[in-house]
This record gives sequence, structure tokens and C-alpha cells, in this order.
Amino acid sequence: MTLPRPNSIKCPYGQAFTIFCEMLSQETDDCILWPYALKNKMALIRLGGTRRHARLEQAHRLAWIMTHREQIEFTHIRQRCKNLRCFNPRHLEKDSQTCRMRRGLAVLIELSNRDTDDCVLWPYSQMHDGRGMATVDGQKMSTNRAAWLADGRPLTKKQVVRHSCDNSQCVNLRHLLAGTQKENVEDCIRRGRKVVRHGELNGTSVLTEKQVKEIRFLHCPGDKNWGARPLARRYGVGRTTVNQLLKGLTWKHLL
Ligand SMILES: [Zn+2]
Ligand SMILES: [Zn+2]
Repeated sequence: MTLPRPNSIKCPYGQAFTIFCEMLSQETDDCILWPYALKNKMALIRLGGTRRHARLEQAHRLAWIMTHREQIEFTHIRQRCKNLRCFNPRHLEKDSQTCRMRRGLAVLIELSNRDTDDCVLWPYSQMHDGRGMATVDGQKMSTNRAAWLADGRPLTKKQVVRHSCDNSQCVNLRHLLAGTQKENVEDCIRRGRKVVRHGELNGTSVLTEKQVKEIRFLHCPGDKNWGARPLARRYGVGRTTVNQLLKGLTWKHLL
């Protein structure tokens, strides 16, 4: 079956999701086709965020998530009508082989289930913080999270997957546990892992060493001009950034 040529016009920036929702609400038994340009033969919808942090989701998967409100990270959704541009929820079904594993994920499952109490290190690509990175259904995610979900373990939206062994490359399921982001940060600090992130060398930092010293010097707790909040505004950074440097969690080498 040959697909009709998709329109080559790009969807107006930032409007994909609105247009998608409008189209999704049509009550029809016909195919609902994405009218704009495709990427790799798929309609990709940009969700929220800025240009840099936006997340792309395939239109038919997004339609499934919005209709059924369920997590489908490891489930393959396909169009019964065989039209890859179609996202009519009435034409969608779960692939009979649910949890279709891409090769990378299959390797990860094998590694994470090894019968050993030692750390099992992910030998492939890593994220900037040293955690392993795997691509699952076209989405990049950390190997600890992917291994956890692939094992069918529950994870709420607010939870993250932590390591009990402090080896961020480790994927051994016996060393993984669910927790909050706060606990995760506390783990890092307790084990001194954050120290590695050195001030200006840390790519995400927007403050200079000089400014950090200034902030520490100027800070006066609770003051309406020199408290953490006004200082953050003055230096154009988040309040958390200022609080962390004041507590000495970041920029430790300047203390
Ligand atoms: Zn269809
Ligand atoms: Zn480990």
C-alpha cells in the first residue's frame, strides 16, 4: 500500500499540540491524518517547553495516551488502518507483541537481570551525569529508569530511580530503588558526588566565580534587598541556584 504524499508545509511553531487536539476531538470513523510535514514518515507533535527542552511524541502514541490515560513507554501502538499518518483513536490498537523490545532494550534487560550482587555497568552511551543512556521506542532515557520500567516495576510521576550502590552506570536491578528527587540529591551530596560539578567548568552554570563570591558576601537572610530571592533576581538566576551555593552544595571549591 502506498501512502499519499504528506504535505511538505511545516506546522506553525508552537501550535502543533493545539491543532492536534482539535483534530483528535473529531468524532469520525475515517482516518484522521496529520496534514503537515512528517519526520521519518511519522507525525511528531512537539509538547511544551522551549525550543531546546521540547519533547517530541508520535501523534498516534499521543492520541492513545490522551484517550486511554495510560503509560505506554514499552508498548507498541499501531494503526489498524495501516496509515502511519493516522491518529484516529478508533483505528489504534496495541501491538499483539506488547513490549516490543528494540535491540538496546533487550541488552539492557539481559544485563539488569544478571544473577549477581556486583555492579553491572552499562557499556554503551552515557548521559552528562554518568548514568547510562538507552533509546526506548525512540525516546532517550536513563538506563536505570528503563531497566526499572522494563521489569514492570511501578513508578509514579514524582519518583525517580536511585542507585543503592552510587554507581551511576550500574544497571543491576538489585541495586536500584525508587525514591524522590530530593532523596536522590541527598544521596549525591552524602556521597560527595556533586563535588565533581565544578563551578564555571560546569556547562549549565551562568554565574562566574566572581559573582558567586559576591553573592556569598552580600547575602543577608530574609532581607528584602539582600535575601536569597532578591539576589537571585539581581543576578538573573533561579532561587534554587542561589540557595544551593549559599548552603555550599555547589561551588564548594570556593568556600
Ligand atoms: Zn486510520
Ligand atoms: Zn551497582
